[in-house]
Amino acid sequence: MPDVRTIPSVEYKDFSLRLHDRYGHRDRVIKAQLELTYRCNLHCVHCYTDPYNNRQDIRKELSLNEIRRILDELADLEIVFLNLTGGEIFTHPHFFEIYDYAYRKGFLLMLYTNGTIVTPAIIERLKQAPPFSIDISCHSVNDAAFDRFTQVQGSFRNFMKGMELLRHSGLPFCFKTKAMNWNKGELPQIKAFVESFGQPFGFTTSLSPRLNGDLSSLEHRLAPEDIGALEVQLDEAQETESCQEATDWSSPPSERLYRCGCATNTIHISAWGELGTCTLQYERRASLRDYSVKEAIEKVFGEIRSLRYATDSPCRGCQVHAFCDKKPTDARWERGHVEEPIPYDCDVAMFRAKRVLNQTLIHPLATKQTNGRSAP
Ligand code: SF4
Ligand code: SF4
Repeated sequence: MPDVRTIPSVEYKDFSLRLHDRYGHRDRVIKAQLELTYRCNLHCVHCYTDPYNNRQDIRKELSLNEIRRILDELADLEIVFLNLTGGEIFTHPHFFEIYDYAYRKGFLLMLYTNGTIVTPAIIERLKQAPPFSIDISCHSVNDAAFDRFTQVQGSFRNFMKGMELLRHSGLPFCFKTKAMNWNKGELPQIKAFVESFGQPFGFTTSLSPRLNGDLSSLEHRLAPEDIGALEVQLDEAQETESCQEATDWSSPPSERLYRCGCATNTIHISAWGELGTCTLQYERRASLRDYSVKEAIEKVFGEIRSLRYATDSPCRGCQVHAFCDKKPTDARWERGHVEEPIPYDCDVAMFRAKRVLNQTLIHPLATKQTNGRSAP
């Protein structure tokens, strides 16, 4: 009788945690996020990539051959997780050529999609070679509100069609929700919708300026006090999105400009082939048209790790830094300099800190005023 063996299975959460425990604090990149395109069938009001969703900028995007070369290099570097994102991935004319190539390379593929152009043909194709996960944006379940924020009429109807196809597909998928000022009242309905698929509900709140510096996306931010109220109302179902390593809330801040996990185990490659350390880090990039992936990682990681606060910014000695979502690129767009504090992030950090720490705190910008200088 043949020796029948079964491959042990492991929950994704446990598998991922083990990998992060093993490699998270080492100089080993295990995850790459590849923006295939800035094309998208929608134009969401809060979207940071939509400014490059036009014919002129799409010409600058990586070609199929360039993407194949990059995938070869990522595989040679033994990167485990590959996240394909956009824009909208299914608008890419060569999506399945890229997907199949990456699948054969052995990556654990994670797809980000808005779910509005999922067709039976796409589902059948994915079922032949299933991805590791499919993350679907779900910011509204109200017909009129959905179409208003995507600025495309009929998009909600298409979203619902896509979700019904996915519901019966057997493919692994989950939802991600961004809580904003226009959908905050809808979160209980979105939660019920997500849970009707047997999925856990979570939400994030951070919005960033658009890639071209346009700040209009920030008009949709929640008020800091609303973030606190929603966290309580929805059983703290929010996902932690702060990059800060916040195990010890009272530890003094590091002098590093990037106090997050930037330049440890993740890379981001834009649709124009520029390698950076995360989606929202545009201060230091290297073009994969000039460098190999390995060279670009060495160059960019070295630069990011060496950047230090050099001015007397309140961020430097901030008491609530561990609760703060500030990203230097956002600070440059919003405040004119990467070291400047972002008042909105200060207010959110104060709300979070007050909830966790039972002590009197001084607002970081009030500290700046007591130092004899005016707050920005
Ligand atoms: S679906 Fe995503 S990429 Fe497309 S416009 Fe909306 S936020 Fe931007
Ligand atoms: S809370 Fe304000 S001052 Fe403190 S690190 Fe964040 S942006 Fe800087």
